[in-house]
Amino acid sequence: MTRILLVEDEESYRVPLAYRLEKDGFEVAQAATGPDAVELFAASGADLVLLDLMLPGMEGTQVCREIRRTSDVPVIMLTAKDDEIDKVVGLELGADDYVTKPYSYRELLARVRAVLRRRGDLSVSDEHAPSDAIAVGRISMDTVRHEVSVAGELVAVPLREFELLEMFLRNPDRVLTRGPLT
Ligand code: CA
Repeated sequence: MTRILLVEDEESYRVPLAYRLEKDGFEVAQAATGPDAVELFAASGADLVLLDLMLPGMEGTQVCREIRRTSDVPVIMLTAKDDEIDKVVGLELGADDYVTKPYSYRELLARVRAVLRRRGDLSVSDEHAPSDAIAVGRISMDTVRHEVSVAGELVAVPLREFELLEMFLRNPDRVLTRGPLT
């Protein structure tokens, strides 16, 4: 199983992200500070590191350097502002990619998979992994290709509707109640 070290001090980002990554088949270790991240990586390693830039104790840039001393593990930086990207790129930290907050989970997952594929990690699920393809009744969707078909015919679905539909299809036995009509 592909192991991700998720380094993010904001619990409201970290916990839901870890949960979704685990649902998509990754093993996730979490660290909330720079020093914790370095320590955890030294102790247990990882196949990929998702690294927040602004961290308590030690900045993400320094964490990346520390990790790079001993490992060429893929690193994706999570940055909050555009000007921070300049910092990440300018410092030539050896990060493999970066994602700007707020990011969509789908975008992040696509980058995680792309980076792992580039590194030739064969344990990474490709487009045909079971979790990417959902079929309920006549409707099927491919969450990586972002395609929906009804009875075999492709239909165009905007992103918001796509995510809603995915939620419905992943919870086929749950009753989802609507709010009061206005
Ligand atoms: Ca932060």
